[in-house]
Amino acid sequence: MEPGAITPSGGGDHFAVFTPYYRHWVARNTRGLLKPPERISVPPIASDGLPSPDQLCSGQPSPHLPRGGETAGRRLFGDWLAGPIGDYEQAHDDLAADGTSRLSPYLHFGCISPTGALRAATKSATAGGDAFIRQLAWRDFHHQVLAARPEVATTDYRTRHDHWRCDDTAAQAWRDGRTGYPIVDAGMRQLQREGWMHNRARLITASFLTKTLYLDWRLGARHFFDLLVDADVANNQLNWQWVAGTGTDTRPNRVLNPLRQAERYDPNGDYVRRYLPELQDIPGPAVHQPWKLDRRHRARLDYPDPIIDLRDGADYFRTARDKNR
Ligand SMILES: Cc1cc2nc3c(=O)[nH]c(=O)nc-3n(C[C@H](O)[C@H](O)[C@H](O)COP(=O)(O)OP(=O)(O)OC[C@H]3O[C@@H](n4cnc5c(N)ncnc54)[C@H](O)[C@@H]3O)c2cc1C
Repeated sequence: MEPGAITPSGGGDHFAVFTPYYRHWVARNTRGLLKPPERISVPPIASDGLPSPDQLCSGQPSPHLPRGGETAGRRLFGDWLAGPIGDYEQAHDDLAADGTSRLSPYLHFGCISPTGALRAATKSATAGGDAFIRQLAWRDFHHQVLAARPEVATTDYRTRHDHWRCDDTAAQAWRDGRTGYPIVDAGMRQLQREGWMHNRARLITASFLTKTLYLDWRLGARHFFDLLVDADVANNQLNWQWVAGTGTDTRPNRVLNPLRQAERYDPNGDYVRRYLPELQDIPGPAVHQPWKLDRRHRARLDYPDPIIDLRDGADYFRTARDKNR
């Protein structure tokens, strides 16, 4: 739905809270697919040809990147509709199950149509289909916020007067997936390897950066933007702000505890072992707390101790926010 097409009845040019937006969005989002245009005229563009990839960046492309283009996007969407969408409601937060559509890059680049996705998911008439449609609405929700307040790509939507800490060593450990918290590090390594990260892992890693390390959300958003194949100014910046508590979350001071998140969303540790080869041999949920292994076993691991105590991080954050209120 176009930004600005629905606005709050009480006034204002955009919705600041998702749930009322979603109610209007579902009720009003009824248009069908437009016909493809017969012809597209583009202005003449002077070009010296496209630069080769090695002129743009160094290193080899990861073999785990998704394949681009409309054909790949349509195939993925067809496979998604044929089965997995039915389990989406139960599976979408299960990190190891990888039960989300992975359609985000195709939606971002326009390889598949969000209206087409909405129509097809509606036809699937499952609880999973409804849950999937709700996620598509988040995409439009963030776009209407950014269209109304373009400056929030770089500034707080709702300032909490944060004086973020500066700590280059901690920031680099986070980027490298070497914080010593396996669930955080697995998310960051998935990002490096696939140019994509599971939504639950995005929430955990972003909360860890902003609320445990108390580092500026812009620093995290920039790193995500560099590596994500679905990198999108509206979705990236506003989800970062949502997690940092400077955006549209109605509970801005909640902190996600990575150990509790791991217990809940990766109960057997399979997601962590998939992305952290150095912890491969630790069976079951013990992989989430390698510091609890006996000293001889730990000494053999090429894996750091936690860079911060979780309670210290959360206390620092709460005190800083209280002070700024
Ligand atoms: C810190 C952070 C940064 C993020 N950065 C981006 C980004 O740059 N680009 C991006 O597309 N999404 C971003 N997201 C949202 C979400 O994580 C991804 O859209 C989702 O993980 C993509 O996987 P999927 O296609 O399997 O999603 P599914 O769960 O299958 O959802 C279907 C589609 O709905 C949309 N969607 C789902 N969740 C969200 C959401 N929270 N906000 C907006 N749209 C959503 C996406 O287009 C997605 O493809 C971010 C989330 C967080 C917490």
